[in-house]
Amino acid sequence: MQFSSFAGNKDVVGWLAELLRSGRLPHALILEGPEGSGRRTLASIVAAGAVCSGIGERPCGRCLDCQKVQKGAHPDIFMVSGEGPRSFHIDVIRRIRNDAYVLPNEARRKVYILANAEAMTEQAQNALLKIFEEPPAHVVFILTCRDRYQLLPTIVSRAVTFALFAPDFEEAVRAVREREPKAREEEIRRAVEIAGGYVGVALKLLEKGGLSAAFELAGKVAKACLAGTELELLMLTANLPRDKELFRSMLNVLALIFRDVMAAKAGSRVMVSGLGDLGFELSQKMTVAHAAAALEVAGETGRALDSNANAALLCTRFCAALRRAVGK
Ligand SMILES: [Zn+2]
Repeated sequence: MQFSSFAGNKDVVGWLAELLRSGRLPHALILEGPEGSGRRTLASIVAAGAVCSGIGERPCGRCLDCQKVQKGAHPDIFMVSGEGPRSFHIDVIRRIRNDAYVLPNEARRKVYILANAEAMTEQAQNALLKIFEEPPAHVVFILTCRDRYQLLPTIVSRAVTFALFAPDFEEAVRAVREREPKAREEEIRRAVEIAGGYVGVALKLLEKGGLSAAFELAGKVAKACLAGTELELLMLTANLPRDKELFRSMLNVLALIFRDVMAAKAGSRVMVSGLGDLGFELSQKMTVAHAAAALEVAGETGRALDSNANAALLCTRFCAALRRAVGK
């Protein structure tokens, strides 16, 4: 995989390619962006570039090092990943620290990818800081995280941070189509829309039938917030804290539904959510102010989810706020 295959983020990609080409790659990089923004994909491309032995553009995709990277078998690239808060312990960093001072096996550099770096405990980060302060010349660290502010400021100040954003709509559609050539065009476009343009999220939606799950649930939630009791809403959303991806995509579909309600109120016959007449149906039961407030709740909850708020608490708050928004 090469830089040209990475969707969007042209500035970041351009800078990284230039740093590699000119041999000025820093010892520590942070790739920051939300879930599905391509942090790991880009980390792998940079790692390949750092060990590439080709001439000119790196990674070249042709040299022996690049070929090994493509097989996932380069002996100088290491990846560790934290899964869940504080799951990334000091012993992992200590092992890396011992290994970092040993010369590379084959390439000019050794690369350590620390994915979900915000999962590092404070002790782990402090241990990492010791290597950051005096890194061996042959070592490159690539940290990926959702939000740099969840890392110690001393770590961030010794690294160069690159923030990733969603590519524009058509570019995201192209990237998803390339990787899912069998998916229907309409499905791809809908997945990209619900994923907020993030290619990784859209791919996951297509992969597990997540798209229909998100639509089905959002439709039920929209109806339940207007009818029944809060308990009904709590039960419908009970699994969401354990499935943040579904939570996120459900919120995105919900936002489309409330936009449909507002459009219906304004006399439009065109519904964007793709949930048929649901927008019209709901528009009979709510005011424009209700729909606007509910839209705001969906957006706010999504932002809180992105910033890694406690999902269980957030889900409960979401149910209460949604009912309040529609005047229940
Ligand atoms: Zn190469």
